[in-house]
Amino acid sequence: MNRLPTLLWWATLIGLAAIVADQLAGGTGAVFGALVAAVVLLGLQLRQLERLERWLAAPDEQVPEGSGAWEDVFARLARLQKNHRAALTRLERAVKTFESAGQAIPEGVLAIDAEQRIVWMNRLGARHFGLDMQRDREFLVTQLIRDPAFRNYLQQGDFAEPLLMHPTHRPDLALQVFVVAFAGEQTLILSRDISDREQLERMRRDFVANVSHELRTPLTVVSGFVETLSDLGGTAGESLPQILPLLENQTRRMQSLVTDLLTLARLECERDEPPMQAIGMQPLLQALVKDAEVLSAGRHQIITDIDPGLELLGADGEIRSILSNLLSNAVRYSSAGTIKVSWHACAEGACFTVRDTGPGIAPEHIPRLTERFYRVDSDRSRASGGTGLGLAIVKHALTRHGGQLRIDSTPGVGSTFAAVFPAARIGAAPTMGAPLKRSGRR
Ligand code: ADP
Repeated sequence: MNRLPTLLWWATLIGLAAIVADQLAGGTGAVFGALVAAVVLLGLQLRQLERLERWLAAPDEQVPEGSGAWEDVFARLARLQKNHRAALTRLERAVKTFESAGQAIPEGVLAIDAEQRIVWMNRLGARHFGLDMQRDREFLVTQLIRDPAFRNYLQQGDFAEPLLMHPTHRPDLALQVFVVAFAGEQTLILSRDISDREQLERMRRDFVANVSHELRTPLTVVSGFVETLSDLGGTAGESLPQILPLLENQTRRMQSLVTDLLTLARLECERDEPPMQAIGMQPLLQALVKDAEVLSAGRHQIITDIDPGLELLGADGEIRSILSNLLSNAVRYSSAGTIKVSWHACAEGACFTVRDTGPGIAPEHIPRLTERFYRVDSDRSRASGGTGLGLAIVKHALTRHGGQLRIDSTPGVGSTFAAVFPAARIGAAPTMGAPLKRSGRR
């Protein structure tokens, strides 16, 4: 600020006041006039100073408007205030962007300082470690995450390998924890939920164990018989009529198991959606009911109720697998009684339903029936040639067709298994040519 014009202006004013006072009062009047002018000018400066002081006490308020030399000072302050506000807005925006980026990271994040106090965390980090985003800031991380493995990991300081931990508040959660240093003394603790991966790994292990177990029993029987036959040497021929059917039975069991395993593996590997191939449900169901009747050997009365106007669009082999598994289960698990098979339109699209009057299934087993090798009664399943994979295949094939399996069962009364297909997979059967006859009740 150039103070010269202001000083000249003040001197002129004081001089003018002295001249005017000198004219009016003469002699000492000039001194008095100059003094009064100086006091007035000083008072004005003090007033501006006071306004400045008041503003400094509350700098967020609007900068006051000054006059004279102060006009320039206040204008500069107003500019500084404006720049400061703009910088603050930019900073707030940057912090918000960082905060939302941190929240959007698909992993848990905890930032801790040199003393291991929590500085910041994202929502996922709070959830993974059972923390409260607001309440737990500033606390020592090892005070809040008390897992000994976690403490040791932080203490030993070797973070080349991630830590696998199951937090005490959620033992079902499997977390992979990484520690990364950043911004000098600060540290980031990153957590990744690998529960699905761990469950998959467990399922894979169980599956291999189950398959080995399923194959070991028939293989032991077969190898035992082969040993017996070789021990018998020349007299082996006499025992063949008893041994051969048993050998055949065990071999068939292994064959069914391998066939079902391959079907399941094929369904799992298949990435493409099933084709929209029209499947004639009436002839297919008639053929499958015939097979079921052979399996039943006259023990059951099988009734069909098929809507010939409903056509299913899907992969022929997979649909056949769904229907035959549900039908053969109804025959195998009920010693006798009535089995009702129907194919009709329902709210979702169309339903294939098999209702039996068999032993029924207790409610606690129902959610697990589609797991591989899950059986309510293992002996009965094996004795009837079951592999424990039938409903797993049904569920897979149905899911691929956008459908679902519904099970309704009452112990001692019977079970109803329904394969529900979505409307997108249902077409009207062609009316050209020989009309399809509605199959009568059998
Ligand atoms: P399995 O080859 O043993 O029949 P599934 O996967 O087809 O295997 O069926 C799983 C289990 O569900 C069977 O072991 C049986 O205990 C039960 N189950 C299936 N269908 C029926 C049914 N209609 N009535 C009673 N239990 C059934």
